Amino acid sequence: MYKKQTIGIDIDATLTEAYYWIPWANAHFNRNLTPEDMVDYEIHKVLSISEERYLAFYEQYGEAMHATSRIRPEAPEILKQLTDNHHLHYITARHPKMQHVTEEWLSYYQVPVDGLHLLGSHHKVEKAHELKCNLFIEDRYENALAIAESGIDVLLMDCYYNQDRPLPSNVKRVTNWHQVKEFIDLMKKTAA
Ligand SMILES: [Mg+2]
Repeated sequence: MYKKQTIGIDIDATLTEAYYWIPWANAHFNRNLTPEDMVDYEIHKVLSISEERYLAFYEQYGEAMHATSRIRPEAPEILKQLTDNHHLHYITARHPKMQHVTEEWLSYYQVPVDGLHLLGSHHKVEKAHELKCNLFIEDRYENALAIAESGIDVLLMDCYYNQDRPLPSNVKRVTNWHQVKEFIDLMKKTAA
């Protein structure tokens, strides 16, 4: 019998659309950035501004950006299908003060949630092991590598800033939630 597995799921750019902050940054910094410009995960580098200026921007608009971000197509439907055989834990680098807006957002999109963990940092390996994750879904390359190296399989959600980088054998690139489901179905078949 297939034992219930645990999936760790990142939120920003994995569950949400990847570049939802661009219009906000364009308006605030008077830029004209497009998703194709996002070749670095670090937003302040893409904007060529100091990290402090970016953090001030995030302090001002972060909550509103999170509240109005859209979910990736098919994600709610696929996550609902996964609940039969999986525990779903959302593990994000968002600061704990974003707990409320994050809960509201997940609830708005009727996303099934077994646990929500706002770490306030990119160090997700420990939490992933504490929760006994069998699989992790993530968009940040460095996180994917660290989690994979610790022995957990990773699906890397394709974004401009994580392309053209070597992936270890237990990191697979996916471009949408339909592919996430395909991979999980395949894992299940192989384990059966
Ligand atoms: Mg992310």
